Amino acid sequence: MMCPFCKAPDTKVIDSRRNEDFSVRRRRECVKCKKRFTTYEKIETSPILVVKKDSTREPFSKEKLRKGILYSCIKRPISSKIIDKLVDEVEKEISLRDDPEIKSIEIGELVLKKLKKIDDVAYIRFASVYREFKEIESFNAEVEKIKPSKKKSRD
Ligand SMILES: [Zn+2]
Repeated sequence: MMCPFCKAPDTKVIDSRRNEDFSVRRRRECVKCKKRFTTYEKIETSPILVVKKDSTREPFSKEKLRKGILYSCIKRPISSKIIDKLVDEVEKEISLRDDPEIKSIEIGELVLKKLKKIDDVAYIRFASVYREFKEIESFNAEVEKIKPSKKKSRD
């Protein structure tokens, strides 16, 4: 990177810090004049569109996703820190795909995969909303699937 003071073409990075939002702050020093400056690197992404069941689209909203998960976690021993982490992970996975659009059901599946490891009840609640279980059979099948994991202790 060019030095903003003496325009020398080479600067060295003396410190690099990654922030929560994936931006990177770099402290740099000019090889020639030794002056220091800071640069910020941000990832530029275009908004991801969520394709809903009726084929309408809306920009992906982290807050909306968080609310949905929060609702499933009511009165469960799940801290908001865990929910935040889950939302962050889902957002990251969505943004890493090449497709600028994602079906709402696919987001639901991503959340379910993670919720399953966190809490059975929250998982079932979320699944019943996202998959819209119309038949009690499919719901029961889902309950059957998670039964073995109940033996695990959680503390
Ligand atoms: Zn310089």
